[in-house]
Amino acid sequence: MSEPLIKPKVFFKTFGCRTNIYDTQMMIGRLKDFEVTDNELTADIVVVNSCTVTNGADSGVRNYISKQNRDGKKVIFAGCGANTHGSELFERKKVFGVLGHSEKENINSLLFSEEPFKNIGVLTHLDKNIVSNYHDKSKAFIKIQEGCNFSCSYCIIPHVRGKARSQNEDKIIKQVKMLSENGFGEFILTGTNIGSYGKDTNTTLGKLLQKLGMIDGVKRVRMGSIEPVQIDDSFKETLKEPWLEKHLHIALQHTNEEMLKIMRRRNGVKKDLELFLELHSLGFALGTDFIVGHPGESEEIWQDALLNFTKFPITHLHAFCYSKRDGTLSASMKQTVDGKRAKSRLKELQAIIQKNNFAFRQKKVKLNVLVEEQKGDFYTGFDQFYNRIFISSKDDLVKKWITIDDYEVKKEGNYATL
Ligand code: SF4
Repeated sequence: MSEPLIKPKVFFKTFGCRTNIYDTQMMIGRLKDFEVTDNELTADIVVVNSCTVTNGADSGVRNYISKQNRDGKKVIFAGCGANTHGSELFERKKVFGVLGHSEKENINSLLFSEEPFKNIGVLTHLDKNIVSNYHDKSKAFIKIQEGCNFSCSYCIIPHVRGKARSQNEDKIIKQVKMLSENGFGEFILTGTNIGSYGKDTNTTLGKLLQKLGMIDGVKRVRMGSIEPVQIDDSFKETLKEPWLEKHLHIALQHTNEEMLKIMRRRNGVKKDLELFLELHSLGFALGTDFIVGHPGESEEIWQDALLNFTKFPITHLHAFCYSKRDGTLSASMKQTVDGKRAKSRLKELQAIIQKNNFAFRQKKVKLNVLVEEQKGDFYTGFDQFYNRIFISSKDDLVKKWITIDDYEVKKEGNYATL
């Protein structure tokens, strides 16, 4: 293929989770004959890496595509939505091309296509290529697996990302080595259900972590969400390692036993609480996911959940009001909680976590911070507990690792002057 004199400009719009951030970077890495722009107005082609986790996420993506259509852009539709809405958007000529997860590594040749295309691909694929750089980022995302074997009643993800399958260990290690040679010190392991890593390849997430921690230049390893039932002995063996972040995000989704059954979850309140207390006693800051307002969440269930929730030493919360996702079991259940009540329940949880997080930070231990960016008058980044810090300094601190002993704890974050 001969190289065009002026390369067409491509803008990537990423919706959704960290796995999508990784997938976008993978596509960028595969583009040889196009220029990536961060200004969508000047782009010739807009690649939409979509999220389809709720009906709301779908509408956000659709609105964005409509805007691009109005602006006369050539739109390529990628990501999880390719499986659920790719055909429909393609047939309605809202998008020029559709590329499913397994096709993203072929993006360079697909973007040359003069004919509209729809390559949804298969759900058994694992990326062959690796991401060796993240432009303008201080941390690197590493996708260690794809797919999920759970069947939570509200979730569409297994239908769009397929069954759980682990990335080859050597490939992951090679990628981390390359990125650390390129100056990255913080690595964030991502995937659809990372706790299932190794179940199909006769290893475990714990064993992988030990190997990553031994690589020169790896200063900190963070992880996406893990299921409580996946925290096994091999994982626990890593808990005292200095390179493991002192923050774990463990997805509870609810703290009422009956609700967890309705949601078809595999975790249970009693064991969850034991696990959280054990991790808390080791000094970890703990985060969780929580869905409020799922069908069946009666007042009685909610009061029990709230009482249980207060017993958990949780400092970080990713909670949201249940939003119906067509094609899931929950979508066929009668919605019993109105939006207003769900929001007020959400606020109750958020208020508890704000207090817990503030109290946790007031312990004032020494912080190890990776500064990510400059925002207004401050440099900002996260410490080992995944708390944000704002730093005043005359020096340029972006992408630097710093240790901070002296700082002020405020409601919205920690503050320090260097
Ligand atoms: S564990 Fe449950 S919520 Fe998470 S991706 Fe799998 S099915 Fe969805």
